Amino acid sequence: MIRHNTYNLHRKIPTTPQRSRIMSAIRGKGNKSTEVRLIEIMRKHHITGWRRNWQLSGNPDFVFPEYRLAVFVDGCFWHGCSRCYKEPRKNAEFWREKIRRNISRDRRNGRILKMEGWRVLRFWEHALKSDGAVANRLKRVISG
Ligand SMILES: [Zn+2]
Repeated sequence: MIRHNTYNLHRKIPTTPQRSRIMSAIRGKGNKSTEVRLIEIMRKHHITGWRRNWQLSGNPDFVFPEYRLAVFVDGCFWHGCSRCYKEPRKNAEFWREKIRRNISRDRRNGRILKMEGWRVLRFWEHALKSDGAVANRLKRVISG
């Protein structure tokens, strides 16, 4: 299904090989603003024990080592959120393939982590708007 959209943010990104590499590099570093937002939420709700840049399969955004918990914050665009994702009109094939790869990598990483004995929690970028719900979910997993 092709969804025409009004999502202008990504439409100007050129797709030369060089630009693609640059974008991959940016993507690999994760989305700063969503990570910062989750940090704010955890601080506000006194959630402690998390680490960043913890060496683990799939490079989770946050790891709670003592709870064997890996946390990802997924950008709605890059990870193909069913609620928010709108396919860019330009280079639709390119984006469809790229997002599809991201989603399958997310699933694979989740499986690997679970096999390694980790619990995995994923938050959508859009969910970060309700900090109480995010904090409750984290606290439930940590205490459970
Ligand atoms: Zn979303």
